[in-house]
Amino acid sequence: MKLLIIFIFCNFSNAFADTFDYGYTKDGFKYVKHKHNESSYQHAYCLAHNGIEEYQNSDFTRVDCLTDEYAIEFDFANKWAESIGQALHYQIMTGKKAKVVLILENPQKQMIYFNRVNKIGKKYQFDVEYITPDILNIKHNKCNYPDCKCNKHRI
Ligand SMILES: [Zn+2]
Repeated sequence: MKLLIIFIFCNFSNAFADTFDYGYTKDGFKYVKHKHNESSYQHAYCLAHNGIEEYQNSDFTRVDCLTDEYAIEFDFANKWAESIGQALHYQIMTGKKAKVVLILENPQKQMIYFNRVNKIGKKYQFDVEYITPDILNIKHNKCNYPDCKCNKHRI
């Protein structure tokens, strides 16, 4: 019985541990590692939706992607809370509807964050969508964007 409890506990902690891929800086700070840059996802999505990337507002903040209908903020799932504040600010600045596009690098594990933001979006009337690495058209572990870290040689 005791063993079973330990077994269950270990499985639970593993399930939480690999929701994100963590790294540590030399100063010991923990951070979430990403295979491809946020900007790569932004390029892929914005191109497919005929948007303007990095649209500058009068207060010098920048909208990740401005389309005919939406002012869009992209973020990785671990930044779900920040994404809402930024998208709503862009709505005020542009007069277009706020949209959060959440990047789920591991959709199975991270869907919980999309569901969370989606629920808030329904209540407070902004739009939410998620994208996965599928949008990057990855071949041989590299995406199409030369400025992405997956295409940079490491020394
Ligand atoms: Zn990449």
